Amino acid sequence: MSQHKIYYFDNNATTRVAPEVLEAMLPYLTEEWGNPSSAYGFGNRIAKHIEHARQNVANLINAEPREIVFTSCGTESNNTAIQSSLLCNPGKRHVITTAVEHSANIKFGQFLQKHSYDVTFLPVEPDGSLDLHLLETSIRPDTAVVSVMWANNETGVLFPIEEIAALCRSKGVLFHTDAVQAPGKLKIDVKSLGVDLLSLSGHKLHAPKGIGLLYVKRRTKFQPYIIGGHQERGKRGGTENVASVIAFGRAAELVMGRIDDENSRVRRMRDRLENSVLSTIPNTIRTGAKEPRLPNTSNIAFDGVEAEAILMLLDQVGICASSGSACTTGALDPSHVLTAMGLSPTRARGCVRFSLGFYNSDKDVDYLLGHLPPIIQRLRAMAPANAVERTGHKHSSTPEHGEEAQGMAAGSRESPQ
Ligand SMILES: *Cc1c(COP(=O)(O)O)cnc(C)c1O
Repeated sequence: MSQHKIYYFDNNATTRVAPEVLEAMLPYLTEEWGNPSSAYGFGNRIAKHIEHARQNVANLINAEPREIVFTSCGTESNNTAIQSSLLCNPGKRHVITTAVEHSANIKFGQFLQKHSYDVTFLPVEPDGSLDLHLLETSIRPDTAVVSVMWANNETGVLFPIEEIAALCRSKGVLFHTDAVQAPGKLKIDVKSLGVDLLSLSGHKLHAPKGIGLLYVKRRTKFQPYIIGGHQERGKRGGTENVASVIAFGRAAELVMGRIDDENSRVRRMRDRLENSVLSTIPNTIRTGAKEPRLPNTSNIAFDGVEAEAILMLLDQVGICASSGSACTTGALDPSHVLTAMGLSPTRARGCVRFSLGFYNSDKDVDYLLGHLPPIIQRLRAMAPANAVERTGHKHSSTPEHGEEAQGMAAGSRESPQ
């Protein structure tokens, strides 16, 4: 089916490049293609523009420009933060993170465990929140770094980063936060947050894919992850991704001015979507705490239905949303975030995330609300024998339901987070 318009409800996976951002970066893909490290003007004048972009992203998080290290993505920033903390504290081989982090942290933690480091993945409560007492008692004399995300990409649930940073500081342990989902949605002030290290990614804030940054607080010991040239004050080798750095700077300027929009207009659209789905479609429940939560994110469990089937039918009418499920071996693994919150694998496989953004309108929400109820009704009618799990987080052993007609969408890829 040919589709003209896309109804995009997957802004936590990636965002559209803003036209203003594209315009700012284009000259660096056309006329201004010199190497910023070159001695002649054609190259080194670009270094000035990079520094301007560095100032803009620093402004976004209230950092000093020299505290910003450009990387290739949020994943690299997270990996760098943890590896650097370990290398700078050679006697300490323990890392604390949570069970609901982005796979950038989960997989890196598992990698460290294979290489004889000790990694604690803190569990979460049924509403997705963290037990700070448990975090405190998990910190040991050999803990090098605590890495806890600010906003969960699947549920939007927020962790109390300021409190966690204070806790780590009192124990003399480095603190890193994955703040990739925060820009434009939350006010970011690294000074009042008190974090040592913080990750962002360009493509989650209307810059292109393939650019990220790591904030490294002044005087924090640091070891590069990518070893090579002297770029980024020796903190990250490799010729700068000039056009994307410029884009990131422009995007930072734009989202700073749009935070009020996200907190009023986008929040109102998200709430209308969520309230309407929960009140008009039976056997649905919001996943995770209502507050504190990102203003743009809604994760909803549709009991008795496979999320992959819902997504396939939504796709047929041009609607993009996502599930946190990872399809690895041909069988759907339920989301590690939702299972960590105590959802049964069956219920977790029925969860869909809707994440809105600057380019969504009320018309998009109307379109979604027009199409979703009949899709759920149709899928439930196709599997009449299936027991519908009762709502509520505590549940007994509901049998896995049959899965005819609810096969997953073609292709076995992990869905982007
Ligand atoms: C998208 C995302 C990442 C990964 O960022 P990339 O730039 O795609 O590597 C990390 N953490 C969170 C919370 C994310 O949403």
